[in-house]
Amino acid sequence: MYELPKRLKSLIPYQPITGAYSVRLDANESFLDTPDWLREEIAAAIKKIAFHRYPDPLCTELREKFAAFFHIDPQLVTAGNGSDELIGLIINTFLGPGEKMAMVRPDFSMYSIYAEIAGVPTAVYEKEPDSLELDRDGLISFVKESGAKLLIFSNPCNPTSQKATMEDMIQIIESLDCLVVADEAYMDFSEGSILHLAQKYDNLILLKTCSKIGMAGIRLGFAVANPALTRVLQAVRSPYNVNAMTQAAGCIWFSHGDYIRSCVEQIKASRNALCRELAALGEQKKEILQVLPSYANFVFLHMSHAKSVFENLAQQGIAVRLMGEYLRITAGSEMENKQLLTALEEILK
Ligand SMILES: *Cc1c(COP(=O)(O)O)cnc(C)c1O
Repeated sequence: MYELPKRLKSLIPYQPITGAYSVRLDANESFLDTPDWLREEIAAAIKKIAFHRYPDPLCTELREKFAAFFHIDPQLVTAGNGSDELIGLIINTFLGPGEKMAMVRPDFSMYSIYAEIAGVPTAVYEKEPDSLELDRDGLISFVKESGAKLLIFSNPCNPTSQKATMEDMIQIIESLDCLVVADEAYMDFSEGSILHLAQKYDNLILLKTCSKIGMAGIRLGFAVANPALTRVLQAVRSPYNVNAMTQAAGCIWFSHGDYIRSCVEQIKASRNALCRELAALGEQKKEILQVLPSYANFVFLHMSHAKSVFENLAQQGIAVRLMGEYLRITAGSEMENKQLLTALEEILK
């Protein structure tokens, strides 16, 4: 009789929220819908695809366009079916049997999920409970003592919206012998990317995604690393991991640098406004304990009764993310932010 391995028995499929929400501020997507001119350009490119053929296994044009946008060498780039695919791939590839992975908490939930699936033991470094900042030296000693072969974390961090400085990142990478995977999913909304250092280090993989800047629907992410690491990633990924439609849409997306930058600016403006307005509300409402400064496209809010506030918002058709005593709220359109703030004010009356 077949028995499921123990580590697989407790897994549950990812459950995005469902239901009729009129305001979706839970998934850190961009609130900017794709404009018609861009849709038309993508539609025209998709029309020309040779659907009976496999797509370009090397994603040559896509990697060139991505690299040009970020001013890096396309030889350092691996494309993936979302950066999620790449996270799983990296964990499965670079950790041998019994080898440990280090992570921090709180951080992106998929790291531990992929580790669990792969049967990889983890060592978890807790962030400072008050500031939720990353204690660089504390993390370095922790990883060294744990003997982990891989450290993965997001910078800026999902869900805390905090950021380690470039100097901190360099210190971490240079102090550790293990592989460092720095997930820059939110770095477009902040300064301090170390993408330009990818070539220099033999123990660094950076992750990027299109999902937070306006293209979550096409599932497209990237790993950037030196040629030796990139060679490994290219060898272990499945040969046609990025489908032809995604490659076509991604090429067009990254051809419009000015448009992407304008989207990012609008998202940052919305985040700043949301941060400011929540902080102002916090001045009046004692339930709002702290509004963390944000380097991402969402705001992390420490609240008393977070769960009941979350449920109350959901009842009003407003989806945010509940994380313990915190709410993570994606920056939305002006209208969505306003609906959220009005509802919040009403709930906290
Ligand atoms: C959203 C997110 C991702 C996932 O990106 P996809 O490209 O959509 O798979 C990766 N890392 C972090 C930290 C994220 O928040």
